[in-house]
Amino acid sequence: MPGFEFWGDEERKEVNDVLETGILMRYGFDGPRKGIWKAKELEQEICKKFGSEYAHLTSSGTSALTTAMAALGIGHGDEVIMPTFTFVASFEAVLSVGATPVLVDVDETLTLDPKAVELAITPKTKCIMPVHMCGSMADMDALKNICDQHDLVLLEDACQSIGASYKGRMLGTIGHAGTFSFDFVKTMTCGEGGVVMTNNKDVYTKCDGYTDHGHDHLGGADRGADLHPFIGYNYRISELHAAVGLAQIRKVDHFLSIQKRNHQLLKQIISQVPEVTFRAVPDPAGDSCTFLSWFLPTEEITVAFVEEMKAQGILAGNFYWYKNNWHYISKWDHLKNADFLNSQSHDITEKLRSYASQSFPASDQVMSRCISTAISLMWTDEQIQEKGEKMVAAISKALAGQSVLA
Ligand SMILES: *Cc1c(COP(=O)(O)O)cnc(C)c1O
Repeated sequence: MPGFEFWGDEERKEVNDVLETGILMRYGFDGPRKGIWKAKELEQEICKKFGSEYAHLTSSGTSALTTAMAALGIGHGDEVIMPTFTFVASFEAVLSVGATPVLVDVDETLTLDPKAVELAITPKTKCIMPVHMCGSMADMDALKNICDQHDLVLLEDACQSIGASYKGRMLGTIGHAGTFSFDFVKTMTCGEGGVVMTNNKDVYTKCDGYTDHGHDHLGGADRGADLHPFIGYNYRISELHAAVGLAQIRKVDHFLSIQKRNHQLLKQIISQVPEVTFRAVPDPAGDSCTFLSWFLPTEEITVAFVEEMKAQGILAGNFYWYKNNWHYISKWDHLKNADFLNSQSHDITEKLRSYASQSFPASDQVMSRCISTAISLMWTDEQIQEKGEKMVAAISKALAGQSVLA
């Protein structure tokens, strides 16, 4: 998912525009900024490219999620249903607004299992938050139906799936709101940054104020004349970061076309192994192809593959999320211990501690057999061939029980 691989003169030019004026802030300074409004311009381009009515930039994907939740009225006492497999930022955002994360199983889409979601609904459920992991999507029709039936908010964490779509609509624009991250390793980057997209004007206006200390931005050129209809924070993006994003968004179609091609080539090679199966993708045409995610028959064989790749020094770029400290519930000890720096509500800490003794066999069954191979924009066809052949050899060895561990 690496926009940073294509850093170049386009990014330098956009950043230089800002350096010329020295106006690094997205608001105010109307005279000295000489017509340069990178954040505003990027928001317009995001709306156009992804088909969202409104877009508001933030300082990160995490703050975009926090902002979206606040704007959607999610807070203390509310439960947010989210998957056991995601980046830690998803639950950080839920906790940041005082809501309670309710973790439920993923299925072979590597995203929320709609049946598990339905079973987790309680009178306190306010929001369902699918996380479109690793470039592909959740079953949005099923989740949207559940939300409609139970009158719940649908918030898409599309931070990892910029440019992916579902039945012709871009991920992040289907729910009541959706977010992208533009951190350094995402499909397009600002260095740091994020965005909330929504088709609801009221939600947008709240995001606009919330990320800037509650400013209503109606005071004209004088920030001191703005009113504060509600309490906000500072989750603003800077003009420098937005400038990088502006260059990147113009390259994003190019990134996606390379990703899709490289993904296809690698998939062809490893699908020669009959025991390998692939992630379920609800709308294959919409896969952004940042990763090729695939399964081996058992946990033991998957571990043997990982060990074999490690032994050969070629594991890099192959992610075994099940044993990684960031992305799967089995390793979220700080969450399950409720290790906060400051005091929190009793209900939330109790709920988090309950996860220490709750098991997720359905998720384990999926994640313990899953490898995601990151798709680089820089690979040559020869490199893909070589990489694929090495993977096939390591898979075959693991399947034959001849790994270095055996
Ligand atoms: C990257 C990411 C985020 C957070 O984005 P940051 O910009 O790093 O704060 C949130 N959710 C998911 C699934 C992510 O991958």
